[in-house]
Amino acid sequence: MQQQIERVALAIALAKRVLVITGAGLSADSGLPTYRGLGGLYNGHTAEGLSIEAALSGPMLQRDPALCWKYLAELGRACLGARANAGHLAIAELQQLKPQCWLLTQNIDGYHRAAGSPPERLIEIHGELAPLFCQSCGAEDAELAEHLERPLPPRCRQCGGILRPPVVLFEEMLPEAAIASLYAELGKGFDLVLSVGTSASFPYIIEPVLRTREGGGLTVEINPGRTDLSDEVDVRLQGRALDVLPELLSHISAQGNCK
Ligand code: NAD
Ligand code: ZN
Repeated sequence: MQQQIERVALAIALAKRVLVITGAGLSADSGLPTYRGLGGLYNGHTAEGLSIEAALSGPMLQRDPALCWKYLAELGRACLGARANAGHLAIAELQQLKPQCWLLTQNIDGYHRAAGSPPERLIEIHGELAPLFCQSCGAEDAELAEHLERPLPPRCRQCGGILRPPVVLFEEMLPEAAIASLYAELGKGFDLVLSVGTSASFPYIIEPVLRTREGGGLTVEINPGRTDLSDEVDVRLQGRALDVLPELLSHISAQGNCK
């Protein structure tokens, strides 16, 4: 593993355009449940006998906002109750060292921003949990924590409409701006892709890895387990993001002159 870490660190130091892709596994080290963990929490089904995908879906938010909000509130409380970890900080540091290092995340917890990743190079493909906005009048509401203490669903102060987070629920479209930004950057190509803590279940997560490999770039996965991408990447760093990322960073910093 040590040799592999040194190999990847050298490749990152030499690379110009780098893409880091992150998933729930990175924030698992902050204590947040992963999607599968979350599914496990409900044993595959909610107390209402629904799949978590049905409970946290766009159609459910319209049909039964209180029910959808029951599970949004669980996510909200988990995210507010934890914080960014050394893995998020190492990625932000890498982006400081490399002005062409982009970050594509599926996480909705906002920890990358909190850790200092530059917003102009951060693509939050599944949106964020805050700030809430009104589905009727569009007014923003920054008080997620306060709303979670009150009866759900949260209501707009201006018009009484139902508030929602700017997150992509199941069966909803991805944010256009995020998709446009991802494909614009993919078009320019990447010299190296690092996939961290994701089961890589979506085509727009797998595609950047496969395209980079086809283009001759180095592909790396950081994950203690196996994923659909494990057999596709050039290097697997089998470990927790919290351990591997800071160690990788210490080697990259030691290379010096890495722009
Ligand atoms: P996933 O739950 O499908 O997969 C998590 C992956 O992380 C697994 O491959 C697992 O082996 C790996 N992992 C577990 N612990 C790890 C660690 N310490 N270090 C590195 N890897 C670790 O997650 P996904 O691929 O991100 O897809 C989940 C979906 O659920 C996404 O749509 C995401 O938006 C949403 N979600 C987000 C959060 C969050 O914002 N933190 C949390 C749960 C789910
Ligand atoms: Zn309103």
